[in-house]
Amino acid sequence: MIEENYSVVWDLDTFFVGGSNSTALRKHLDEVKNKLVAFEEELKGFYTPSSLQDVNKIVHTIDKLKDIAVNLSEAGAVIGCFQAQDTTDKQAALLEGEVGMLYAKLSSSMLTIQQKIGQTEETVWQDLLQTNELSTFAFVLNEWRNEAKLMLSEKEEDMITNLSVDGYHAWGQLYDMSVGDIRIKLTLDGVEKVLSVGQANNLSSHEDAAIRKESFNALETAWTEKEDFFAKTLNHIAGFRLAVYEKRGWDSVLQEPLQINRMKQETLDAMWGAISKNKAPFVEYLQRKSAMLGEKRMHWYDLDAPVSASTEKMDFQQGAAFILKHFKEFGPKLAAFSRNAFEKGWIEAEDRPNKRPGGFCTGMPVSEESRIFMTYSGSMSNVSTLAHELGHAFHSYALRPVHWMNRQYAMGVAETASTFAEMIVADAAVKEAKTDEEKIALLEDKIQRSVAFFMNIHARYLFETRFYEERKKGMVSATRLNDLMEAAQKEAYGDALETTHPHFWASKLHFYITDVPFYNFPYTFGYLFSLSIYAKAITEGSSFEEKYISLLQDTAVMTVEDLAMKHLGEDITKEGFWIKGINLCIQDVNEFIQFTNAKG
Ligand SMILES: [Zn+2]
Repeated sequence: MIEENYSVVWDLDTFFVGGSNSTALRKHLDEVKNKLVAFEEELKGFYTPSSLQDVNKIVHTIDKLKDIAVNLSEAGAVIGCFQAQDTTDKQAALLEGEVGMLYAKLSSSMLTIQQKIGQTEETVWQDLLQTNELSTFAFVLNEWRNEAKLMLSEKEEDMITNLSVDGYHAWGQLYDMSVGDIRIKLTLDGVEKVLSVGQANNLSSHEDAAIRKESFNALETAWTEKEDFFAKTLNHIAGFRLAVYEKRGWDSVLQEPLQINRMKQETLDAMWGAISKNKAPFVEYLQRKSAMLGEKRMHWYDLDAPVSASTEKMDFQQGAAFILKHFKEFGPKLAAFSRNAFEKGWIEAEDRPNKRPGGFCTGMPVSEESRIFMTYSGSMSNVSTLAHELGHAFHSYALRPVHWMNRQYAMGVAETASTFAEMIVADAAVKEAKTDEEKIALLEDKIQRSVAFFMNIHARYLFETRFYEERKKGMVSATRLNDLMEAAQKEAYGDALETTHPHFWASKLHFYITDVPFYNFPYTFGYLFSLSIYAKAITEGSSFEEKYISLLQDTAVMTVEDLAMKHLGEDITKEGFWIKGINLCIQDVNEFIQFTNAKG
């Protein structure tokens, strides 16, 4: 075998030479801006389509929209890369602000088109969708139209959007600001330290139990001191949302998030139903873990504690070889695509200062390339992250032959390809682990994810649905919010917890996100959906890859129910489907129990 030597630094010059000061990038952005202004002007004359003669007009509008959108995303993606690779790049930060403003302009143009489409007479609309030109966009166009129909008039919606800047989104920003101001005082190794909330949160996985407990208590104290402020903030965000829903005549708070995720209520209920009925193995895992930590039952502050240190290290070249080897076992296309990504410098993995934390994958739709960002330091979890991001890039690759209109997939399916790719590598790592210690650490890593999706996210979902119901009747006090959270956690963790985290509602940013409501269940959906596809791939072998690719190509043109039925032959409104994915996670728990038995 030839020893490969892939670059650990990505190549961004293929897009715009010269980094954030690139003149080509400046020119590109100016062009997008000019096109947007002209498009806005043109849309003033965009009327409600009234006949088949309007087909060309709609096609022309879609073409323009696509042209602006792909060029803007191309620039936005590259600028995001500039920022991530060097957080001190001030020019990149300025450009990011500019791109944000251009995106806001673009979405207001899209809203105009949506409203006009919504007003089109039904028979005219049906005729239009039958045409060759528009039939390929039928799902998306219908979605735009149906959404518009569920909304208030153009004038009223416009007013809501305007008022929401100060009356809704501002509450979310105020939350971020206040959390940013909080300082946590802690004594670490005899030295008094002042930490941000993020830094204190990171101590939840510290190996020293006393430090975990102390940081947790210090955080709870901080949340308690400000609980009335956060309760008010949360109540007003919910209040605004509920008032808008009421005006639109929407009864259920889940209507909007389900619509965004192209999902039925039955599907969501079947998923949580299957999870609720299968908590026992995870409760057993939590009991085993607390015993390994020398405790009788699980404390909240021990949930992230390490039970066994992963010692296995792989340098970047070894990690790449490991990923490619196991991708190849799944299918030749995923392997060839990933090899190309390594060879062409699509990956930024170097461990150096001034890089942003975390990892991401971003797509450049004009160049039809992707870039992956992470800091690779050689742990097995780095190898998994790299596989995860390659999975995202493969999803974009699979969607390349698909028109831009049909590529806008929702959050619930966004993590399908990434989780899938990560699972291939994580499973292989467990199988090839050289020591029991290593195996236990890798298994625990996998099970932690299941606990997060089946228990932690479930608690958030239970809390949020119950809170919104109570909020309909009036303001909900901080004390009541604590009670609701505690009850949700006890239930979601199958009564395995000795201590809970009552102020979790104050500490979790996700409850205060105003762009997307119910930022919780799509995570669990995506994880389990992907696991079910993975379960199928295991039984079908490498012949599954073609089916997998056609599934990915359909992720943005149908409901999740239709997607599963068409490509997997599965009815996801039934619990049986979800149990298959959960069973894979239960196998991990069984193995963990078995290996830790042998240890004890
Ligand atoms: Zn991801």
